Amino acid sequence: MFDYVIVGAGFAGATVAAQMARNFGKRVMLLDRRSHVGGNAYDHYDRAGVLVHKYGPHIFHTNSRDVIDYLSLFTEWRTYEHRVLASVDGKLVPIPINLDTVNVLHGLNLTVGELEAYLETIAEKPASVRTSEDVVVSRVGRDLYTKMFRGYTRKQWGLDPSELDASVTARIPVRLNRDDRYFSDTYQVMPLHGFTRMFENMLDHPNITIMLNTDYRDAMNSIRYRELVYTGPIDEFFDFRYGKLPYRSLQFRHETLNVKKLQPVAVINHPNEHDYTRVTEFKHLTGQSHSKTSVVYEYPCDGGDPYYPVPRPENAALYKQYEALAAQAQGVHFVGRLATYKYYNMDQVVAQALTLCAKLSGATRGELVRKPFEAVASPELISAAN
Ligand code: FAD
Ligand code: UDP
Repeated sequence: MFDYVIVGAGFAGATVAAQMARNFGKRVMLLDRRSHVGGNAYDHYDRAGVLVHKYGPHIFHTNSRDVIDYLSLFTEWRTYEHRVLASVDGKLVPIPINLDTVNVLHGLNLTVGELEAYLETIAEKPASVRTSEDVVVSRVGRDLYTKMFRGYTRKQWGLDPSELDASVTARIPVRLNRDDRYFSDTYQVMPLHGFTRMFENMLDHPNITIMLNTDYRDAMNSIRYRELVYTGPIDEFFDFRYGKLPYRSLQFRHETLNVKKLQPVAVINHPNEHDYTRVTEFKHLTGQSHSKTSVVYEYPCDGGDPYYPVPRPENAALYKQYEALAAQAQGVHFVGRLATYKYYNMDQVVAQALTLCAKLSGATRGELVRKPFEAVASPELISAAN
C-alpha cells in the first residue's frame, strides 16, 4: 500500500516525493509517461558527449532561500549568470533592454543618468496596462516594442501581444543601466552535474518506487494507495469536461557542431527573422569543456506536448472551472505548472510543492527538511559524460 501515488516526475512530483518519503517516512509511487525523470528540466549527454537540455534551455534562478536550501540537499551548484542577445536590425543587442540596447538601436550616446528621461519621451501612456503590448509600449515606446517584442511574441504564442496578459512580457524588466544579465534574482546557479543527476539524488530512497513509460490511467487499477498527487494537465485529468485549456508547445531542433563555441552568449533571440524564436548553446549554461558544441532551435507550435499555459482572461476563466472541480476531488492534490495552469518557473513550482508538503504533513514550511545553500563550487567542474 502506497501513501501517495504521484503522477509526473518533474519538479513538482519529485519535490513532493522526496520530501514526503525522506522527511515523513511515507511510501510513494512516482509515475511518469515519459522514459525519464526530470519532466521538462531533463538533461542528458548527447551523442557527442555534450550535456544538453532535451526540452529547451533551463536556467535556475530564485530569490527564495527555502527553495535553494531544499534543492541543496541534492546537488552542488555552479555560478551562472544568464545573458541573452537579440538579433535586431543586423546587430546583436542586450535583452532585457538596457542603456546599450537603446544607444545601439536608436543611434544615441546616452549616459546612465540620461536614459530614464529619454525613455519618458518615447514611452506611450495607455489608459491602463492590461496587455503584454501595454507593458512594453508604456516602458520603452512603440519602436523598441516593435523591434524586440512584437515579432517574438507573435511567434512564441501565436498571438499578438495585445491578446496576452501583461504578466507575459512583464517577466522581462527594463534596465536603466548597463546590467546585461537576464535575471536579477539573488541566487543564479546551475546544478553542477546537471538537473537529471539532481533528480536522481532526490528520488534515490527506499520509500520511493518509480514507474516510467507509464500513463497513470493505465496503472491505477493495479496500485493500492491512499492519496493522489497530480502534476499533469488539469483539463486532461477531468477528461476535458469544459473543453481544452490551451497550452503552447514547441518543436526542438538539436544540433552538434564541430566548433568549440558558436555564440558569444548562451542564447540569441530572433524576434523578427526565422521561424524559430531563439538558439541556445548549452556549454555556456553547463560550463562543460568539449571540442564540439551543441545547440537547440525552438519552433513554437500548437498541439504537441503541453509546455506553456497561455495567460489571457478567457483561459483563466476556463481554468477556474477546472480549479473548482479540483477543489471537490477527494484525496487528489494538484500541483505544478500544468496542473495549476500557471506560467511558473522551476523555483516557483518547488515552492508550490513544498507548500503542499506542509499541508499534507501538518508541518510548517520551516520544519521541512533542507540544507543551507553554500558558496558555489568551482564553475569549471563538470562530470564526465556517462
Ligand atoms: P513538468 O516538468 O511538465 O512535469 C510534469 C510531468 O508529468 C511530465 O514529465 C509528464 O510526462 C508527466 N505526466 C503528465 N501527464 C501524465 C500522465 N497522464 N501519466 C504519467 N505522467 C504524466 N523554468 C525556469 O525556472 N528557468 C528556465 O530557464 C526555464 N526554461 C524553460 C524553457 C522551456 C522551453 C520550458 C517549456 C519551460 C521552462 N521553464 C523554466 C519552466 C520549467 O520547465 C517548469 O517550471 C517546470 O519544469 C515545471 O515542473 P512541473 O513538475 O510542474 O511540470
Ligand atoms: N519576449 C520577447 N522578446 C524577447 C524575449 C521575450 O518578446 O526577446 C517576450 C515573449 O512574449 C516571451 C516573454 O517575453 O514569451 C517571456 O520571455 P521569457 O524569456 O521569460 O520566456 P520563456 O523563457 O519562459 O520562454
